[in-house]
Amino acid sequence: MFEEIFLASSRIAAYRKAVGDESIKEIKKIAKPLRGLRVVHVNSTAKAGGGGVAEILRSLLPLMRDVGLNAKWTIITPPKEFFGVTQKIHDSLQGSHSGLSDDDKKLYIETGKKIAESFKKEKADVWIFHDPQPLAIPFFADRLKSAISRIHIDLSSPNKDTWNFLLPFFEPYKKIIFSMDEFVNPKIPREKVKIFAPAIDPLISKNKALPRSVAKRVIASHNIHPDKPLIAQISRFDRWKDPIGVIKAFYIAKNEIPDLQLVLLGLMLASDNPRSATVLKQVQRYVRGDPANIHLLYDPEEIKTENETLVNAFQAGSDVVIQKSIKEGFGLTVTEAMWKGKPVIGGRAGGIKLQIKDGRNGFLVSSPEECGQRIVELIKNPALSRRMGRRARESVKKKFLIPRLLRDYLNLFKEVLE
Ligand code: UDP
Repeated sequence: MFEEIFLASSRIAAYRKAVGDESIKEIKKIAKPLRGLRVVHVNSTAKAGGGGVAEILRSLLPLMRDVGLNAKWTIITPPKEFFGVTQKIHDSLQGSHSGLSDDDKKLYIETGKKIAESFKKEKADVWIFHDPQPLAIPFFADRLKSAISRIHIDLSSPNKDTWNFLLPFFEPYKKIIFSMDEFVNPKIPREKVKIFAPAIDPLISKNKALPRSVAKRVIASHNIHPDKPLIAQISRFDRWKDPIGVIKAFYIAKNEIPDLQLVLLGLMLASDNPRSATVLKQVQRYVRGDPANIHLLYDPEEIKTENETLVNAFQAGSDVVIQKSIKEGFGLTVTEAMWKGKPVIGGRAGGIKLQIKDGRNGFLVSSPEECGQRIVELIKNPALSRRMGRRARESVKKKFLIPRLLRDYLNLFKEVLE
């Protein structure tokens, strides 16, 4: 009921330019006594486009190996219905009122037991289980030592019933990692809590420096004028990402910048994402008034540019990047755009607040009106945009690049093994 994922190789030394010599030296020093340590990460998907967790593991694990750890990445492969239940868990932990039925709970427990059984022969010194899908495994496999839970979502105000159901499964964990303080649930013992902000990989094609001319060419190939002002939100079509709010903000800004263009990019297969498809339909209805200046890019079968280049081109080639989320985990799209030196206007939510210092390296907004005004301010003032973009890149360099996350994990491994 699990599968090992092949890992490409990469070198920590290649990050020297991005994070500086000192950081690399420090990482190597911390890693030295951990040489040969057997570490297994367990999550539920390794698919490209499978979300931020897979993205981070794909970059992080080869680096763990490069500094001497014996690191593995494993995904669980339960029957499909299990993921129906974990989707409900995910939703109800993050605010949805509907919880789990008795049958759902039974399936979660039975499957957790079976997966735990299948892990019996696996050996490791440290285990890291990501998010609620594999959470129950250590509960049913008590010989797993040094288990760490890495929770990427906000557990601060979960659905009560779902939370009471899940809480016992946290018991066997030595440490529980959250992305930020405000995501921690008070029922988790404080001494177990660790805070690791997520991070992006500056060397993957999505985040590599893209010449402006290439970005413009990609943009133009999607019938968007490369030299007129452009704003973009690059995000799943999801109501918490507030695409309708972005369009409202666009209309407000357009009153003052008549040739303004908007792109909403969220590649997905409708068949895989029935919920996103519903949100997309609402958005399509909403923009009927201005199809010439609002571009919705979503169908990977119609779009010829591959995902990584497309995301990179729109993040690097837009004048302003928007992430007007109402609820957010960390918001990797914000990190990615800031790394590209863009001024980002973000919703005052979750990890966006951690990344954007309002008025310094971007803007935080709470309404379409505010967002619309900030768009105008930035587009009319290129010097302000450049200044904010420079500071944005600098703050990502300091805090949110993958070598820092590697360092956090190495320090934690030392701590749990002591
Ligand atoms: N993304 C992508 N293609 C798209 C839209 C988004 O590759 O069409 C990526 C984006 O670059 C980011 C991730 O999906 O790396 C989204 O992560 P984020 O934390 O912003 O939001 P989530 O979708 O996990 O809520």
